[in-house]
Amino acid sequence: MKVSQVIDSRSKNLIIGSGPAAVGAALALDHVHVVDSGGSLESAPADRAASLGRKAPSLWPKDDVEWLKSTLQPNTNGVETKLSFGSRYPYEIPKSGPAWDVRGGLKLSFAFGGLSTVWGASVLPYFQDEITKWPITIKELEPHYRAVLAETGVAGVRDDLEEIFPSYHEAPSLLETSPQAVAVLARWHKNRRKLTAAGFRWGRSRLLVKGKHAEASAGRLSYHGSNELAAEKACVECGMCMYGCPYDLIYSSRQSIRKWQGEGKINYEAGVLVEGFKELADRVEVWGRNLTTGAEWKGETERLFLGGGVLSSTAMVMRSLGIENRPVEILDSQYFTVPLLSFRGTAGVRESRLHTLAQIFLEIMPAEISKQLIHLQIYTYNDMITRVLQQKAGPLASLLDPMIRQMEGRLFFLQGFLHSDDSGRLRITMGATHDGQKKFLVEPMVNPKVGGMMKKVLAKLAFHLGDLGFCPILPMASLGEPGRSFHSGGSMPMGGEDKRHPIVTDRLGRPNGLKRVHVIDASTFPSISATTITLTAMANAHRIACEVGELG
Ligand SMILES: Cc1cc2nc3c(=O)[nH]c(=O)nc-3n(C[C@H](O)[C@H](O)[C@H](O)COP(=O)(O)OP(=O)(O)OC[C@H]3O[C@@H](n4cnc5c(N)ncnc54)[C@H](O)[C@@H]3O)c2cc1C
Ligand code: SF4
Repeated sequence: MKVSQVIDSRSKNLIIGSGPAAVGAALALDHVHVVDSGGSLESAPADRAASLGRKAPSLWPKDDVEWLKSTLQPNTNGVETKLSFGSRYPYEIPKSGPAWDVRGGLKLSFAFGGLSTVWGASVLPYFQDEITKWPITIKELEPHYRAVLAETGVAGVRDDLEEIFPSYHEAPSLLETSPQAVAVLARWHKNRRKLTAAGFRWGRSRLLVKGKHAEASAGRLSYHGSNELAAEKACVECGMCMYGCPYDLIYSSRQSIRKWQGEGKINYEAGVLVEGFKELADRVEVWGRNLTTGAEWKGETERLFLGGGVLSSTAMVMRSLGIENRPVEILDSQYFTVPLLSFRGTAGVRESRLHTLAQIFLEIMPAEISKQLIHLQIYTYNDMITRVLQQKAGPLASLLDPMIRQMEGRLFFLQGFLHSDDSGRLRITMGATHDGQKKFLVEPMVNPKVGGMMKKVLAKLAFHLGDLGFCPILPMASLGEPGRSFHSGGSMPMGGEDKRHPIVTDRLGRPNGLKRVHVIDASTFPSISATTITLTAMANAHRIACEVGELG
């Protein structure tokens, strides 16, 4: 097999991946070579999205808006799979390389920007009470949260959530809160004493979205990666977030990578699928495949940082360390969804300008339901609500429009997340196909207690319906299977016991005693909190890279 490329041996730091974890590490390093499979959006949707991005929403052609909306088909539980401008490219698995049989909800990403090309951009840090199994403290993570948020920017406000989750950013940008969210927050404020006594804490969502008064941070570039500027520099509440932001204002790690590539901070190489590595005394040899030519690819580096996402990083380590036919468990923060019916309707939501990402974070503090915090995200109106109601009304939709309008002003959508101690898990096993290729099987491991826990959360919401101002529509509650939240990790826990785990890492993410190989994504998390995972993955990657830098 032909060797397609050998990386310059002076490349000190080699990072695999262009997802958020890779960006967290690259932020702290110099002399970085980033190698990535780097799948990208096909040119037809990219051109159409870019053309929308060059105009203000009032000038968008009707058929382009209809095209964008037609790219997702909603049902009462939301959408089956969130796409990027109708494309599945974020989840596409290269045909060359190992075979994958993934059951359960988790998906791999081999895209430029990884899963941050489709994510919901909600961010909260972890807090100390929940990382007692970790060999590091929140105090140690704090400077790294700040460094990451200084790069990405964050939209949010300083409110009561600050008491449990500091914002770690001096000047968050501003996103307008939707009229429905304003009404709910006002009600909770009025009933604050009772709701707080019942263990609720809340605040407006924190999102990696460019809101008003955003400081210049990660460069916004079109879907072609050119310097073509989008028409809008801050969110204009066009309501298209679920389909893909035409202005690229929802943070994706590819924005930082592109910016750094332009500045010469990093060297970015796309189109390579890394398969394994071998650590030698003074360097690490890395090998894989060029995805365009199929030729063998080889590289060498002083330090290797694995940021392939939990499934791919674990697979690379299993393959390199020869962990065959021995399952490795993956932790998960399992999630559930339920529509909420508000007592008071808000008129005219269909015409209102709003973003359609999470509007409110509602926390249930550790108490009778769980020893761990439970994190709830509330979404208010988006056009998919109208579409679902119209589908239900069938041929009577036009006739029933006044009723549909009333309903859409009353409906919210809730996503709830549980701590990994309260969730199911997944397991990944390496085997071989009949023609001798490596094969990875990923299977969900159901925790029978999770359904009961979801019911207790819903019962608590229903019990406090008078103070909360809404009621969960219980028959429509739905529990996602393990992995479906995409808040998964912990396959190679930092400070884990090797009797329980085939792969354990030290505080620098080094698996099974290796010296020069560092796992930088959530695979090393000893537990997964219910709050969002990505900010902590980025901060932890940044911490690892900083501490490695101090080693010299
Ligand atoms: C629909 C959706 C909504 C989400 N919403 C949120 C949210 O609101 N908040 C939150 O915190 N999290 C959210 N997440 C999860 C979040 O996207 C992930 O936690 C995050 O992207 C993980 O970052 P990562 O860098 O570890 O891996 P990934 O994002 O998976 O990136 C992996 C990178 O590695 C590269 N790669 C992988 N294997 C190889 C290989 N063998 N060779 C070369 N390159 C490779 C890929 O090309 C990619 O660039 C969401 C996810 C989804 C899908
Ligand atoms: S509402 Fe969503 S899609 Fe529209 S500009 Fe804001 S972030 Fe982008």
